[in-house]
Amino acid sequence: MCGIVGYIGNKKASPILINGLLRLEYRGYDSAGIATIENDEIKVMKNKGRVNNLYELDGINDLVGTIGIAHTRWATHGKPSKENSHPHMDNSNSFAVVHNGIIENYNELKNMLIEKGYKFLSATDTEVIPNLIHYYFEQDKTDDDKKILRAVKSTCKDLKGSYAIEILSIYNKDKMIVVRKDSPLVIGKGNGENYLSSDIPAILSYTKDFYLLDDNEIVELSRDEVKFYNQDLKEIQKPIKSIEWGALSAEKDGYEDFMLKEIYEQPKAIRETVGAKLDNGSIEIEGLNLTKEYLQSLNKIYIVACGTAMHAGLVAKTTIEKLCKISVEVDIASEFRYREPLVDEKTLCIYISQSGETADTIAALKLAKSKGAKTLAISNVIGSSITREADYSIYTHAGPEIAVASTKAYTSQVVLLNILGIYFAEKLERVEKEIINNLKQDILNLPSQIEEILKDTNQVKNFAKKVYKEKDMFFLGRGTDYAVSLEGSLKLKEISYIHSESYASGELKHGPIALIENDVTVIATMTNPDLVEKSISNVQEVVTRGAKVFAITSEDIKNDGLSQVIKIPKTNPLISPVLSVIPMQLFSYYISKEKGLDVDKPRNLAKSVTVE
Ligand code: GLU
Repeated sequence: MCGIVGYIGNKKASPILINGLLRLEYRGYDSAGIATIENDEIKVMKNKGRVNNLYELDGINDLVGTIGIAHTRWATHGKPSKENSHPHMDNSNSFAVVHNGIIENYNELKNMLIEKGYKFLSATDTEVIPNLIHYYFEQDKTDDDKKILRAVKSTCKDLKGSYAIEILSIYNKDKMIVVRKDSPLVIGKGNGENYLSSDIPAILSYTKDFYLLDDNEIVELSRDEVKFYNQDLKEIQKPIKSIEWGALSAEKDGYEDFMLKEIYEQPKAIRETVGAKLDNGSIEIEGLNLTKEYLQSLNKIYIVACGTAMHAGLVAKTTIEKLCKISVEVDIASEFRYREPLVDEKTLCIYISQSGETADTIAALKLAKSKGAKTLAISNVIGSSITREADYSIYTHAGPEIAVASTKAYTSQVVLLNILGIYFAEKLERVEKEIINNLKQDILNLPSQIEEILKDTNQVKNFAKKVYKEKDMFFLGRGTDYAVSLEGSLKLKEISYIHSESYASGELKHGPIALIENDVTVIATMTNPDLVEKSISNVQEVVTRGAKVFAITSEDIKNDGLSQVIKIPKTNPLISPVLSVIPMQLFSYYISKEKGLDVDKPRNLAKSVTVE
């Protein structure tokens, strides 16, 4: 989880490392640290707390080393503290290691090392790694230039779990070794220098050329060279990938927070998602070539994801079932992976992960693959782990999303899933062409309709100011309005720490109405003309009991007893969540601001959940 940065070149490493860590801050973390080689010694500087606190450490400005590793930690083993922060060293101070991930068998390895006389200074799982490397290094009696690589290889063979690891050693002061398994790591190639990072934006201002690492590859970096080895230390070749994103797109661009910037980026993000897919004729999606025969053979589609991405899946269930007449089940990845889901070659399994690194979603994908199902990944990050596991990968192209609470990734996922539904439907020919063509047109209208909503946000802001001190709120909706209500409720929890529940309006009478009393806030979404009458009856039930209702609707409803009505443009109910979620995102945002909270980095949450 969290972040890794590395540098080897001719410049002073420490500012590059700290700058890179700052760019990775959005992932959430509790401690930070760096190590460089100074003369013949590895110098480690680390502490609990913010990356910026590193600047306060004694001697940090005296570091002149031109090779270094850096880390932001999100503790999994051992509380956040200086001792538990990375980098960690072996007992002889010859190897320094930073690690993202979890070593599942660390206890066993630690006991083995303790028996051999090793001492442990931290409570982390990570500390076994530098000591194991040292152990194997000492055992190896051949003194050649592959000795460290061999020690790393043997260490990795012993490790169970997930890891992205960077290693410095005083035995070779001009080389750095890195390896990954189920945890992200990329290499940025420069001229006479090389960079490392958990993701591309953190080092995009230094280089546009990247190597994407695969699981179990061991890499040896020097200033002029990047050498790749497989698990058996056989050298392998890897292609360079040039990345186009401007580094600036990962910065705030004048907005107060990344989240607000990303809310406003949604029209652009969706235009990118749609791209040329709806331009003319039947939809073509790059990287996807499913045949009519295959689609006809399906008896079920699974959509599996976590959090916001799962909510995007819930919206798509309605579209795919309606257009393709195939039953769609939406599941939570952490549940799917530990059940025995009924999946076989007649099931298509779709996995959604913005980062493409969500551990549970990747594991769920691997499970379906092993049962013979075809797997399709939807991600925002090109080259991410999930896209390398899946049979097919398609991308939202929403640009980097930095705020922990997802906004543009959600809307672009809903759009892409709808396009995917149309792609299937055009092949299956189970519904009239007109239905499909109308939906295509409605999708094309979405960006300008969002711009319309974003023109005036005052009503939402004012309502947020009225209710920001509340402890509980309720979201109500039917059909896709219910699906989007789940997302609205999640947003509120994530960034404003207000407890909220989302219910299908029809469920109200089956329990939750007992909680409705004077002054309780209810956010009611009503965009489906076929369901609006019924929804209004439900809203009246809560109004009668004294609730303050914040209604989001595209219909002409009477304002009877409602506290605030937000009118949004009309669209097809299959995609209306792309519009109705905007006031919900803004509502949570303004409440969070009113409460003085850190919008972009809510407590306890991380952007990319790379552990279970
Ligand atoms: N498991 C390691 C620890 O607790 C690394 C956590 C991380 O990925 O930051 O220190």
